[in-house]
Amino acid sequence: MEYVTLSNGVKMPKLGFGVFQISKEDCEKCVLDAINAGYRHIDTAQSYFNEEEVGNAISKCGIVREELFITTKVWIDNYGYEKTRQSVLKSMEKLKADYIDLVLLHQPYSDYYGAYHALQDLYEEGKIRAIGVSNFSPDRLADMVAFNKIAPQVNQVETNPLHQQINAQENMVKRGVQMEAWAPFGEGKNNMFNNPILKEITDKYDKSAAQVILRWLTQRNIVALAKSTHTERIKENLEIFDFQLSEGDMNKITALDTKTSLFFNHQTPEAVDGFVKMIEERKGRI
Ligand code: NAP
Repeated sequence: MEYVTLSNGVKMPKLGFGVFQISKEDCEKCVLDAINAGYRHIDTAQSYFNEEEVGNAISKCGIVREELFITTKVWIDNYGYEKTRQSVLKSMEKLKADYIDLVLLHQPYSDYYGAYHALQDLYEEGKIRAIGVSNFSPDRLADMVAFNKIAPQVNQVETNPLHQQINAQENMVKRGVQMEAWAPFGEGKNNMFNNPILKEITDKYDKSAAQVILRWLTQRNIVALAKSTHTERIKENLEIFDFQLSEGDMNKITALDTKTSLFFNHQTPEAVDGFVKMIEERKGRI
């Protein structure tokens, strides 16, 4: 495993196991499979409805807590100082953890300043080892860095070969914020796993498209999250630290950038409408 060091000195494994869209029924087994395969970094969220199952896996896995890096994210409906504080304490209970390694604000809407102030206090109390945001565009991230006592240590954003976020990364590097990639495979959209340019590269290194993508991200110094419910793929996605992509192959992947999300653009009023709907659908469940 390779690591990055966050602006506060905390070490974070460069590859994590993501549990978005893994059902409650499957989650504990998948996380145990991942930890047995060698993952030490697990990424969940209040809105994934599986923090409890991640907690079960953590307590059963036999790995000492200090070796694991656990991330969760605060859901928008839990924003505002007091609600965020209570929700993080509840996440700790569900995760059966005395502390959480990284807590992110999941989305850049509603009262994220109040929410962030609660994270800062929990950080200072030692309940959280690092704090950050997710899906924050360069201007909103600059704002958070400029006007908070503790700058976000991480920003988790969609990053994959078709949406590379090169300018966003430059902005993060400039402000000392570690970039983390969600949907590294774009959830397989646009035939990602069979992209002909990636195929040329996979043949050369005798690696799969998934491995080449994860390696490309880690070589860009981006922390990558990979999700799978299949034991063999979980193992495959971890085998990325025994090869190095050449500069020429890195450049071939750079040329695939469409600078467009495979999902939706967070900076539109329609995206806000979509989240308002999601909040309603999830009311009382988080
Ligand atoms: P992803 O990792 O890009 O793609 C997951 C998909 O790829 C699944 O359908 C999986 O199928 C398939 N897959 C995985 N490994 C494979 C392999 N080696 N070969 C072929 N197919 C493979 O998508 P994601 O789950 O959306 O993103 C990863 C993590 O990022 C999430 O789990 C979550 O922790 C985080 N995330 C965060 C946000 C945010 O807003 N902050 C948003 C989305 C995701 P199987 O499961 O069937 O193997």
